[in-house]
Amino acid sequence: MRSTEQLLVDRARLMGPNVSTFYDDPLHLVRGEGVWLWDADGRKYLDCYNNVPHVGHCNPRVVEAICRQASTLNTHTRYLHEGILSYIERLTATTDASLDTAILTCTGSEANDIALRMAEAVTGKRGIIATDATYHGNTALVSQLGKSNIPTVGFGLGQFFRFVDAPDSYRHPDPDGTTFAAHVAQQIDGLEKDGTGFAALVVCPYFLNEGFPDLPDGWLKPVAEVVRRTGGLLICDEVQSGFGRTGTHMWAHEKMGVVPDVMVLGKPMANGHPVGGVVANHDIVAAFRTGYRYFNTFGGNPVSCAAAMAVLEEIDDKGLVANAQTVGAYARERMQKLATQHEVIGDIRGSGLIFGAEMVTDRTTKAPASDFTDRVINALRHRGVILSKLGRHKNTLKIRPPMPFSKDNADLLFDTLDEVLADTSLHP
Ligand code: PMP
Repeated sequence: MRSTEQLLVDRARLMGPNVSTFYDDPLHLVRGEGVWLWDADGRKYLDCYNNVPHVGHCNPRVVEAICRQASTLNTHTRYLHEGILSYIERLTATTDASLDTAILTCTGSEANDIALRMAEAVTGKRGIIATDATYHGNTALVSQLGKSNIPTVGFGLGQFFRFVDAPDSYRHPDPDGTTFAAHVAQQIDGLEKDGTGFAALVVCPYFLNEGFPDLPDGWLKPVAEVVRRTGGLLICDEVQSGFGRTGTHMWAHEKMGVVPDVMVLGKPMANGHPVGGVVANHDIVAAFRTGYRYFNTFGGNPVSCAAAMAVLEEIDDKGLVANAQTVGAYARERMQKLATQHEVIGDIRGSGLIFGAEMVTDRTTKAPASDFTDRVINALRHRGVILSKLGRHKNTLKIRPPMPFSKDNADLLFDTLDEVLADTSLHP
């Protein structure tokens, strides 16, 4: 087996400069099971970060479903197959009745790309609005939404995109969502006046990439009203927030009090097997069909559908949404206690199994402790706990473990975090 140093050299040589790694000392993982990962030296890590293995690394039900279907048949969707229909039936049984039709893809990026093109097909307009601290994917169209990394190339698509300040409950509270709605209304007005026209607002309903600000349930209602009144579509990107992650609902848009026109899915959908999707009303999907001929060779193939079905079954059978709520509430209690002991914790937040803390150098000025947060993440990695950071200032601990995460796992996480935060050599 290649050494870590050799892997890094060979990655750069064979994969080019566009592949980043986590950590100062990148991890070479070789095995996973449940919430645990092992590296090439046999060292065990508690995974508090990866949401793709939603029902646990190498979940036996998902592995069995993939093996069974892969050894029976795998083709594309131009042949008839029971699996894709059973899956879409089961998926749409979890959503509002208006979200009754789905297109399956291989990635969240493709799914968002379709969602934006659906908005153009339905409205006849092209103006898209998103927050200024989000990420929705990597196609030429969708990559325009990542304002922190706006492509300098991209076929001139940037002209169709407008941004509003991401919600920030810690520094700029907007408890009823009316300020956010007013900012979106302003951008819509601008798009209509300059002739671009308003097609859609796209948001992650729990604003995960933005640092999951603490927003009360129902917070998206005012902005949804603005979007509807002005004739655009509301696209909810549930790639990170969906499948029960928040512990209170299967879909975060339900928590935020809205029904989107288009729901976008990805990452956890098939536990690591590449599956994404767009769920919308039949009429919207029909309008998209008129505008575009769409075919996806791998999207919705029988093996992908078997894996995705096993994820839904596992969520139900193991009560994983309720587990997210119970363990998430416990995690918040433990974080609250840590915040009384460590001044550097400025704010704690989250719901279910997405939670974290914002690190500051000073609680009064709320100055972000971004470099310190980076040192904390690296120190945790060396103590066998994997998590990450995000948000506008990259100073929010992002804790988003596989859904079978237990209270014992949370204890190990917070005991280790306590030790790391007490290590004065890491402080500024
Ligand atoms: N939407 C959101 C909210 C995401 O976080 C991501 C990936 N980080 C995507 C879409 C893109 O998904 P994919 O990488 O599967 O294309």
